[in-house]
Parts: sequence; structure tokens; C-alpha cells
Amino acid sequence: MDIGFIGLGEMGAAIVGNLLEAGHTVRVWNRTAAKAQALARQGARVVATPAEAFSGDAAISMLADDAALREVIDAALLERAPRGLVHVNMATISVALAQTLAQEHAAHGIQYVAAPVLGRPDAAQAAKLTIMAAGASEAIDRVQPLFDVIGQKTWRVGAEPQHANVMKLAANFMLASAVESLGEAAALLGGYGVAMRDFLDVVTGGPFPGPVYAGYGGMIAEGRYEPALFKARLGLKDVRLALAAADAVSTPLPVASVLRDSLLEAVANGDGERDFAVLGKVAARRAGRQG
Ligand code: NAP
Repeated sequence: MDIGFIGLGEMGAAIVGNLLEAGHTVRVWNRTAAKAQALARQGARVVATPAEAFSGDAAISMLADDAALREVIDAALLERAPRGLVHVNMATISVALAQTLAQEHAAHGIQYVAAPVLGRPDAAQAAKLTIMAAGASEAIDRVQPLFDVIGQKTWRVGAEPQHANVMKLAANFMLASAVESLGEAAALLGGYGVAMRDFLDVVTGGPFPGPVYAGYGGMIAEGRYEPALFKARLGLKDVRLALAAADAVSTPLPVASVLRDSLLEAVANGDGERDFAVLGKVAARRAGRQG
């Protein structure tokens, strides 16, 4: 297929690599052009404007947040895009913006598919993403071959794009809760001189298996917060989005409020660009120790 791709950060670059490897033609655009050049060596065609990427059979965007998306996907871009184009937005954005984008795309005759993902850049590189796709089923059918080469499974979660986004926010809320708990558990263990590594072997070999506890727990055990595969700044964004989505339907999320403050504390201490696992450092600092 002929695909345009907008946003070549940690996630976007990894996804494009798999699309190229599967033989698709990929036109890439990124605000910081150097990242696009790196992909050109793998066969991507670098374009100079988002509009040149927003054409072909499908366009995929993987930008940081609502503000980035609004800066790039504006009315002029939608006006110029070919009718019938399928735009797949894989970024984690607000439920409210997903609703607005769906309406704006429909008004311009463009198909909009929300397809946020679970999995870090290493999972993206290994084509092991979990994709939650929502939108018109014929539009999803058209891009399913792309999902098949970037993910391990696509879950179709209905015709309303924002349903995929609220699912993603609920999942990241659970992820943040798990990382916060891991950090606090490590602080508790540290107070008694018990190694986090030993504890992790016990719990991941028993009731808490899986990549979240083993992966983030391992980083906390080592006090290793770089390279930042998922930046604390983006984790804070997601918790805020979950709180906003909950607020809109009068649903208290008391744990999310705690998570927001922990992540804010990380950002306030200069750790926003470090990995999400830096919640371990926050918990250790609250206990008067280094994390
Ligand atoms: P990232 O490495 O920080 O990349 C962000 C991308 O957005 C870059 O291409 C960046 O361009 C672009 N961008 C930011 N602000 C912009 C603006 N104002 N105008 C134009 N482009 C802008 O982030 P990432 O980890 O790839 O995450 C991308 C999305 O996937 C986010 O919504 C994130 O929540 C979600 N996600 C991430 C993970 C993860 O583990 N990392 C997992 C699942 C989902 P520049 O290169 O010019 O800065």
C-alpha cells in the first residue's frame, strides 16, 4: 500500500520500520527532519510537508499529544486531502479531541480510525503492539493489512472512534497504578534492606507475571530510567486525559489523582524526559532515600 506517516518519535519510527520491511511504500514527515532522514536509509520517502504525507491509500499519525495533533492536522490539511482517504490516528489523545476529529473528518469525506496501542517502542519494533481500533468497519478493513504487520493483535472495539481512546486511557491508568505500586513497594523494601530484584523474582514468578511488573519493576530495581522508552511527561499526559475523560462523565478516579501528583513531582524534579519507571525515584525520595 501507499502510506503516509506523520510523527517519527520513539513509537512512530519503530512502526514505520515494520511497514517498510513488509514492502509498503511509506512517505514520512516529522517536525524534526533529522528523524525522517534516519528512516530514509531504510527505504522511507521523506516528504517536506504533512500534506504530502496525508494522501495515498492511508495516512497514519503518531504524534505526542492533542496539541501536536491540532498543530499538524488542521482544517487546511483536511481540505486538501483526497476524499476517501483513511486516516489512522495511533496516538494517545483525549476522548474529546477524538470526537471532534471524527466529526471534522466526516465533514471532509475522510475516514477516521482511532487505533491507539498498548506496548512500548521495543514492542513496536518487534511488531508486538496490541491495537484497539474503532471506526467504520469498512475503513478498518482497508487498513487491517497494515495493523497485521505492526501489531500482534487488533481488537475491534466498535464504530465510535473515541471508544478506543477511552479504552487506551483506562489501560494506561492501570499501567500507571502498577508502576506507582512498584515504586512504593521498592521504597518499603528499601527501608528494610531487602533487594527489589529478589522481591521481583518472587512476585513475577507467582501472582504478578507479565511485562508491566517485570519490565518496569526491573528498571526500578536497577534505578535505571534511561533510555526513556515511555517518558514520564507522556505518562502524566495520559493520567490527565483519564481524569478529564472521567470528569466529563462525573466519575471519580481517586487513584488517578494520586498518580497525577506523583508524575507532576517527577516533572518538577527535572525527570519528565526520563522513563515512566522514574515513579520509583519519586517514591524513594519521599522515603528520604535515593531511587
Ligand atoms: P515521542 O518519542 O516524544 O515522539 C513524539 C512525536 O510527536 C515526535 O514525532 C515529535 O516530533 C512529534 N511532535 C511533538 N510535538 C509536536 C508539534 N507541536 N508539532 C509537530 N510534531 C510534534 O513520543 P512517542 O513515545 O513516540 O509517543 C507517541 C504517541 O504514542 C503518544 O501519544 C504516546 O502517548 C503514545 N504511546 C507511547 C508509548 C510509549 O511507550 N512510548 C506506548 C503507547 C502509546 P519531533 O521529533 O520534532 O519532536
